[in-house]
Amino acid sequence: MSNEQPDRSSDLKQEAQTATTPRHSESTRNAELPVLTRVDGARLLEFSPDALLLINTGGTIVLINEQAAALFGYTQAELIDHPLEKLLPTRFHAAHVAHRLNYATTPLPRPMGVGLDLMGRRKDGSEFPVDISLRPILLEQVYHVMGAIRDITIQRFLERERAQQTERISQLTTLIDLAHDAIQVQDQLGRILFWNRGAQELYGWSAQEALGRMAHVLLQTHFPESSAAVNTELERVGRWEGELIQTDRQGRTMIVECRRVLIADEHNHHPAAIFVIARDITERRRQEQARATVHTETLAQRAFLQELLDALPGGVSVVHGHEARLLLTNRAAASIWGAPWPVGQPMRTFLEERHIRLVEASGHALRENGWATMRALLDGETVLQHQEVVRQPSGASLPVLVNAVPLISAHWQSLEVPDAQSHDLPGQKGIREPLALVIYQDVRLLKEAEYFKEEFIGITAHELRQPLAALKGAVGTLLLQTARGHGTPLAFWQQEMLQDLDLATDRLTDLTDDLLDVSRLQAGRLSLQRTTTDLVSLTERVVKRLQQTANRHQLECSTNQVRLEAQVDARRIEQVLTNLLTNAVKYSPLGGLIRVTLSTHVAEHVAEIQVQDSGMGIPAHQQARIFGRFMRADNAQSSGINGTGLGLYLCHALIEQHGGQLWFESTEGVGSTFFATLPLSPDFSSNGEAQTGPLSETVSAESVSEW
Ligand code: ADP
Repeated sequence: MSNEQPDRSSDLKQEAQTATTPRHSESTRNAELPVLTRVDGARLLEFSPDALLLINTGGTIVLINEQAAALFGYTQAELIDHPLEKLLPTRFHAAHVAHRLNYATTPLPRPMGVGLDLMGRRKDGSEFPVDISLRPILLEQVYHVMGAIRDITIQRFLERERAQQTERISQLTTLIDLAHDAIQVQDQLGRILFWNRGAQELYGWSAQEALGRMAHVLLQTHFPESSAAVNTELERVGRWEGELIQTDRQGRTMIVECRRVLIADEHNHHPAAIFVIARDITERRRQEQARATVHTETLAQRAFLQELLDALPGGVSVVHGHEARLLLTNRAAASIWGAPWPVGQPMRTFLEERHIRLVEASGHALRENGWATMRALLDGETVLQHQEVVRQPSGASLPVLVNAVPLISAHWQSLEVPDAQSHDLPGQKGIREPLALVIYQDVRLLKEAEYFKEEFIGITAHELRQPLAALKGAVGTLLLQTARGHGTPLAFWQQEMLQDLDLATDRLTDLTDDLLDVSRLQAGRLSLQRTTTDLVSLTERVVKRLQQTANRHQLECSTNQVRLEAQVDARRIEQVLTNLLTNAVKYSPLGGLIRVTLSTHVAEHVAEIQVQDSGMGIPAHQQARIFGRFMRADNAQSSGINGTGLGLYLCHALIEQHGGQLWFESTEGVGSTFFATLPLSPDFSSNGEAQTGPLSETVSAESVSEW
C-alpha cells in the first residue's frame, strides 16, 4: 500500500476483501478467465504496445508496463505495489473505488468509467483524460484485473470541436430559416440539397418535397439568356446575380431577384455546391413600372403644357418665393425680356445680370416692391393691367401691360423643376412660399395706335379751334350789333337761335380744349407755367364767376386762412376748380348748397380744397373708374346730363402733375365731396388766421340756362 493514502488503507483492504468474495460462484467465474503466470504476465505487458497494468483485488498495481508508467511520468518501480488511485486525481478516488468494487461483482471485459469523464494524474500533478478498459484475469490462480489505459486528450478535443461545430450548424440553420429570403443549396447539377423555410414560403413546396428535385424544373425557371450562360458566369467569377422568372406551387409566375454563389470543396478547391438566395420582387417591379408610367405621363403632360405656353402670344411666367424665383415660363416671355430667364433664378438677379430695367410709363424707374410681380408675391395683391416699360439688354424699350395674380396651389410643390440655382432640394420648397402667375402683354402696337389716335385727336381739335373761334366771333358780333340796333332787327326766334348757337360754340370750344389737353397729356407735352399763386383768392374768383351763371345753386366758399401760397399754374388750377364746381352744379339738378372749403395740413405743408354738393352722387360700383378717360356714371347718363367724361381725368392728371392728390367721397342719391391737395410754397407759412363763416359774399345768381 502506498504511503500517499494511508487513511484509505482500511477501506481498500475491506474492498479487497469484498472483492475476493464475489457474489458469483468463484469456481464458475475463474473457470472462464484467462490464466497467466507472473512471468507470462510481465512479458505480455512488456510486449504490448498499449499501456497496460495489472491490479489485484485490493486495487494495488501488481504489474505495469513501461508505456503505462511513462504515460503518467513514473518509472515502473515507482508504481508497482502502489494503489491504482495514485494515477487518478484525488477527487476521483472515492468514485473510482466504488467503480472498481462494482466491477468486481461483474468482472467482464469492458471499458471502465462509462459515463464518467475519467482523468489520469501524472507524477507532476497535471491531468489528462483517459480511457481505461478492464479485463479480469487469473494470475498465479488469483483473481486480478488487467487495465489498458489510453490518453484520450486528442479524442476529447476532437469531440468538443465536433460538438461546437454541430451547435454552430444548428444556429446557422435556425438563422437561415429565420431569413425571409428563399435560401437553397444545390449540387452542381442543380439538385436541391438544402431548402429553408423562406424557400418553402416563397415557392410553396416543403423541404421534404423539394429536396433532391432539379431546381430549375421544379420552379420552371426562365433565365435572362440561358442556364448555360448563368453557369459559365458562375464558373468564371464564382457568382451570378440577376433576375429570373419562376413559378410557385400554385402556378403563380413571379420575378425573382437571385444571387448564386459557388461553394468550393474545402480540400481540393473544386466546386462542390451552389448557394442560391432568391427574393420575390414582382410587386416592387410592378410598382416601379407604375411609377415609370406615371413619370412618363407627367413628362408628356409637362411637355404639352410647355408647348401650350410657348404657343401663347403673351409672356407667361410662374414665380415663387420672396425672391420671385422662376418656376415656369414661355418663349414669348423671353422675347419680352430680350433674354432667357433661367428657371430657379430670382427675378432681381436675372434683371441685374442681363442689365434689364423696369420703368414706369412716366419714365421713372420702378422700385422692386413696385413691380407687379412682387406686389402679387409679397402683398398677395392681384395686379391688373399694370403699365411697365421693359428696358431690354439691347437698350430697346418695350411697353408692357402686366397682370400678376397670386396663386394658391399645393401641387406645384411636387413639381420636379430643374432648380439649378436654387439651394432648395426637390421637395424642400417651403410649403408657405407664395406663388404668382405673371402675364406680360407687349403693347407696343397698341401704344403706337394710341399715339396715332392721340395725334389725330390733337390735330383735329387744333384745326377745329380756328373755325370755332370764327363762328363764335360771328355769332357774338351778330348778337351785339343787333342789340345795338345796327341792321335789320331780328325776330325773337332768330335771336333765340343765335343764343343757342353761341352756347353750342362755347361747348364745342370747351370740348376741343379738353381734347387738346388730353392729347398733350398723353404725349407728355402738357407743361405747367408755375407762378406763386394765392389759392384763396383764386378759389374765391372761380366761385364768384360760376355763381353768376348758377341760378338754382348757392355757392359758398369758406376758409380759416387769409392767404395760401402755392407754386402752381394758376390757369390750370382754375381749370380744375371750374371743372369740379361745374360738376357739383351739373350733377345736383335740383339745386342746393355747394360748399367750397380751403384748409391746410400743416404736417404735410399742403393746402386742401373741398367741393361738396348734395347731388345725385356716384354709384359705388363705378367709383373706382371715375377718373378714367371718357368715364361717365350710369346715373349721370340716364339723367340726360351732357358730358364727355374727360374733365375728371384731366383734373386728376393736372393735380398729380402739381404734386398733389385728387380723390372723392360719394354716396349715390346723397351727394359727393371732391378733395384736392396742392403743396404750398416751401417758404410760405400759413398764418392760421381764423375767419368764420363764408369768406366771400354769397352771390345770388344770374341765370345760367345750361352747363
Ligand atoms: P363729364 O361731367 O363731362 O361727364 P367728368 O370727367 O367731369 O365728365 O365727370 C365724369 C363723371 O363723373 C360724370 O359723367 C359723372 O358721372 C361723374 N361725376 C363727376 N362729378 C360728379 C358729382 N359732383 N356728382 C355726381 N357725379 C359726378
